[in-house]
Amino acid sequence: MKIVVVGVGYVGLVSGVCFADFGHTVACVDKDEGKIAGLKAGIIPIYEPGLSELVLASIESGRLSFSTKLADNIRGTTAIFIAVGTPARADNGHADLQFVFAAAKEIAENLTGPAVIVTKSTVPVGTGDKIEAIIRGVRPELEISVVSNPEFLREGSAIRDFQLPDRVVVGANDARGRDVLGAIYKPIHSDDEPVVYTDRRTAELIKYASNAFLATKIGFINEIANLCEAIGANVQDVTRGMGLDKRIGPKYLDAGPGYGGSCFPKDTLALVKAAESVAVDMSIVNAVVRSNDNRKAQMGERVVTELGNNGPMQIAILGLTFKPNTDDMRESPSIDIIRALQDAGHQIVAYDPTGTKEPEKIFSGITYAPDAYTACEGADAVVVVTEWGVFRTLDLTRVKAIMKGRLLFDMRNLYDHETVLASGLTYHSIGRPRNRPATIVE
Ligand code: NAD
Repeated sequence: MKIVVVGVGYVGLVSGVCFADFGHTVACVDKDEGKIAGLKAGIIPIYEPGLSELVLASIESGRLSFSTKLADNIRGTTAIFIAVGTPARADNGHADLQFVFAAAKEIAENLTGPAVIVTKSTVPVGTGDKIEAIIRGVRPELEISVVSNPEFLREGSAIRDFQLPDRVVVGANDARGRDVLGAIYKPIHSDDEPVVYTDRRTAELIKYASNAFLATKIGFINEIANLCEAIGANVQDVTRGMGLDKRIGPKYLDAGPGYGGSCFPKDTLALVKAAESVAVDMSIVNAVVRSNDNRKAQMGERVVTELGNNGPMQIAILGLTFKPNTDDMRESPSIDIIRALQDAGHQIVAYDPTGTKEPEKIFSGITYAPDAYTACEGADAVVVVTEWGVFRTLDLTRVKAIMKGRLLFDMRNLYDHETVLASGLTYHSIGRPRNRPATIVE
């Protein structure tokens, strides 16, 4: 089947390359000329494990191509996926749909025959109706179906998530849209990876409901972590004790510095705002949004307070991305933590395994180290923000030896107390009693 994907970001690129891997012929189209020129030369614009190899193999197979021109690629296409960004609007928190509607208009202007237009971007309920109205307004003579196919991949494991999804959701209001999407996903359609068919509005809501629920789990365990700190309990043991209950499950139940990333913060906010506009009070999700904003602010304050009023200090920050195995910095907790430390007058030396390209767009006045140990040299305190695997195996005795001070803030509970205390470091982790080791058995 011939497919066009409009928007070659994390979702568009992964979807495009995986569709090509399924055997379809895919043209990925993006307005960003630099990105497309790079991709044509085999340069992958994002860090995502396994992506580079799959893109190169798919280009080689002749099934994947890149272009800045929709018009040159749309002829004979069965399905056109919209995978452009839907960031939060700065003025009111609603999803900003300008890129989606611009893509819909351009698709309408360039269609040469009947087609299925698929929204993969995360969009508020009713957006499919608006996309359909835009396209029908421009091209009333064409047979079109507009389908919702929200994406659930996680950055860091995007290829695997796309190829082995827990489910695929297809929201179609007609048989044609439903059948075309069924055929596209045929290679992964099995009882273990079911395709859930719904109407279009329901599919749009499934995406927001899923993200809001996962954000709630994280927000919930972070509040339990606060309680653990106040009463001397251990949040990792609580997580294990809760997570073994099959009704709850262990995933998205690790206490930390608050969720970030390109999805949960904007999608929870957009859900609350969309519900408000139809006079529905999403009090739980609203509380999660506030709780997470507070948490990110509190994490920086926690470090600043512990450092005390002892003048400017040098702080090593280990990990800048919002989670490991991605270079995505959007809404990362590191942003709030570093700003709080800078506001208090401290100097930052940071290291992230994905380098400095994305962080440099966000931070100013910080120094970047080439590795974790260099970042820790001469530091008064070390703050581990992202749970990159490489930080789990740090030699803490060596870290202590090269630091000036002895404070270790571990926002991800990567270390056990015995190891840290044996190294001579003073340990601050999340939701765990300071002097009582975790009893957790991995
Ligand atoms: P992104 O910002 O990484 O990429 C969006 C791309 O769209 C950019 O390359 C931009 O140049 C391009 N673009 C914008 N307007 C265009 C147009 N008119 N024509 C062609 N290209 C255009 O975005 P992303 O992170 O891939 O997210 C895309 C959508 O998928 C969002 O709605 C997001 O909420 C959703 N989503 C993201 C993830 C994730 O992990 N990133 C997961 C699931 C769903």
